[in-house]
Formats: sequence, C-alpha cells, structure tokens
Amino acid sequence: MHDTVIVGGGLCGLSLADSLCGMGRSFALYEARNRLGGRILSVQCGSIRLDLGPTWYWPDMQPRMARLVSDLGLESFPQHDIGTVRHLSDAEKEPVTVRLADVHGGARRISGGMAAMVDALARRLPQESIRMERELVSVCSRETHVELLFRSFGVNEIVRAKRAVLAIPPRLLEEKVDFAPGLDTKVRDAMRATHTWMAGQAKAVVGYEAPFWRQAGESGNAFVSHSQAVLGEIFDACDAGGQHAALGGFFALQPGYRASVHPESMTMLISSQLVQVFGLEAECGEQRMQDWASEPFTCSALDLEPPEGHPEYGDANLCLPLWGNRLFLAGSETAGYGGGYMEGALEAAARVSQMLLLCA
Ligand SMILES: Cc1cc2nc3c(=O)[nH]c(=O)nc-3n(C[C@H](O)[C@H](O)[C@H](O)COP(=O)(O)OP(=O)(O)OC[C@H]3O[C@@H](n4cnc5c(N)ncnc54)[C@H](O)[C@@H]3O)c2cc1C
Repeated sequence: MHDTVIVGGGLCGLSLADSLCGMGRSFALYEARNRLGGRILSVQCGSIRLDLGPTWYWPDMQPRMARLVSDLGLESFPQHDIGTVRHLSDAEKEPVTVRLADVHGGARRISGGMAAMVDALARRLPQESIRMERELVSVCSRETHVELLFRSFGVNEIVRAKRAVLAIPPRLLEEKVDFAPGLDTKVRDAMRATHTWMAGQAKAVVGYEAPFWRQAGESGNAFVSHSQAVLGEIFDACDAGGQHAALGGFFALQPGYRASVHPESMTMLISSQLVQVFGLEAECGEQRMQDWASEPFTCSALDLEPPEGHPEYGDANLCLPLWGNRLFLAGSETAGYGGGYMEGALEAAARVSQMLLLCA
C-alpha cells in the first residue's frame, strides 16, 4: 500500500510531489494524460518553444512562483510591452494605433516556455513514482485506507493508499469521478460552483522569421473587439532576445463555434485577422493552436460557460481534509491566494503538504 497517492500531474501535483520528496516521504503520482504539466503546455514552433497554456507570472504578487523559478535555476525575462498597441473595433475598418503603457503589468516569462518548469520539477522526482495514462475513475473510503480505481487503455487498476490527494480541478472531479461514500453536499456544491480557470479558452501562437512589428515601433499587443473577432487579444511571444519571433493570441470565438470550424479554415481565419491588424507581413507564420475546451482532463461541461471576470477562489469547503484525514482536494482552484493561477497551484500544494505533515 502507498503512503500517499497524488492524482494529477499538473503544477500543483508536481509541486506537492517535490515537497514530499524533500521531506523523504514516499508517494506515487498518477496522471491521466501522456504528458505532465496539465494546463501548462509549451510546444515547438520552428526553433522556439511557445506556450499554449500559461505564459506569465507576476513576481511582485506571486512570491511562490518567483521562488520556484529561482530555485529551479530557470531563466526568466520581461514580457515585451514596448511600443504602440493596435485596436480593431470594426471589421470593415482599419485598426487604430493607441498608446498603452505596461499592458501586462510587469509579467515575466520563462525561457523555453512554462513547460521548462514542469520539466525541471519532473527531473527532481524518482521516475518510478510517476504513473502516466491512468485516469482516476472512482475513490472509495475503506476503514484504514483509500482505494482508487484508475483506467488505462480500458484496463482497470485498483490502487490502495493511506491517503490520497486529488490535484484535479474540483469541477472536473465532481463531474467525472465517483466517490463512495458520496461527498458532503456542501463540498459537492462548492466543487460544482468553482470555475476551472481558462478551461473554456483557446490559444494560438504564430512563429515568424523576424519580429516585423517591433521593427515598426509596435509592441505586438493588439485588441480586436468587434463581433467577428477570431483572436481577441494578441501579444508578443518572441524569445528573450527577440531573435526568434512569434505572436500569441487568445481566441474570442466561443467554444461551440470553434468546434464547428475545420482546423484548416481556422488557420485561414487567424491568418487573415493578423494581416488586418499587423499588415501583409503577418500572413506567413507557422501556427499552433490549443483548444482547452475540448480537453477532457481540463474542461468540465460547466466550464464551457465563461465566468464574469476572475472568480473568487478558495472556498473553505474545498480546503478541509475529508474522510478523517485520508482524502485531500488540491489544485489551483482550491487556493485562497492566487486561485486559478499557477501561484494558486503552488499555494494549494503547500497547504496540503503542511496538512500531510500533521498526519504522519
Ligand atoms: C490558456 C491558458 C492560459 C493561462 N494563462 C495563465 C497565466 O498566464 N498565468 C497563470 O498564472 N496561470 C495561467 N493559466 C492557469 C494555469 O495554467 C493554472 O492555474 C495551473 O496550470 C493549474 O495547475 P493545477 O495543477 O492546479 O491544475 P492542472 O494543470 O489542470 O492539472 C490537473 C492535472 O490533473 C490531470 N487529471 C485530470 N483529470 C484526471 C483524472 N480523472 N485522473 C488522473 N489525472 C487527471 C490533468 O491531466 C492535469 O495534468 C492559464 C491557463 C490556460 C488554460
């Protein structure tokens, strides 16, 4: 029987595993996907690795992120915001140029993409403690332990542990995983009410030979606010030195519409909008896209409906130990500080790590 099983190999699960490792505590980490990182995803686009999940952290407000980046020896650099900003508010007209200072509020990026953090954390863990492509299906409370049922390529596997930490977005957990006995109504309600941050969003990155916008005095930031907008928010995604050029953008199109568009047509839609905003040079980029709304291990059915602004996270019902200190909920959405962000994932991991210390 395992001492602790962590389910979910996103930043929260990895950070908790790292902390247990540091304390010399044994654990096993189970992950449904064939990669670690969860919502953190960096992909190769030409000669540069670009983020299709989180891109930024804010060291002034996110001390855990700042410390982790430094502890792991990762190189960070400021988000490029220097230059003018484009705004396109009417599909039939030309964009206007505006001046907006510090659009991303002191955000920093990581060289090699956010996945560099995932890679560095994973390297510190004993490889035999990580089990990939295991989807948690149910969790059952037994007298002395917890029993977890995983499915991998149609084969069921029962895993026993003294305690389990579920580092999975609470809404997804409530929707997809069975609990026996069922969880308290207050906990279930809180899980359902907790939006999985950015789960219904989609992102695109486009690699170019040169940062032509910088050469024209533009920042690469653009906002497209008309009703047919494809990408609503665009930003510079070049590497630290600006030698490898790229733009990134968040989709303005809703999940249902995105799902109905053929990938090749989407590529053309993105390209033509970029040309309208930045001119002909923006036409020939290499595109990568990720639609998080169609990711079964990120987005629940309720998450398809966007929240109004950034929700308040950290419902106390999600932070308490369950089943007599044998079951713990984690993940960024359970954090009282930085909830929804990577900072929240680290805060939640630290909270659970402290609680596990108390139940040696
Ligand atoms: C497009 C986008 C942009 C973002 N931008 C930023 C940003 O700039 N800055 C920022 O701070 N944050 C940003 N975020 C949010 C950030 O990505 C999250 O806060 C953070 O990655 C959450 O980490 P987590 O470990 O809590 O959850 P997740 O990363 O969601 O990890 C959960 C893990 O559980 C696994 N899992 C799910 N179900 C099961 C199951 N049944 N069985 C086993 N495993 C399962 C998943 O595969 C995943 O690996 C962004 C997110 C997205 C999608």
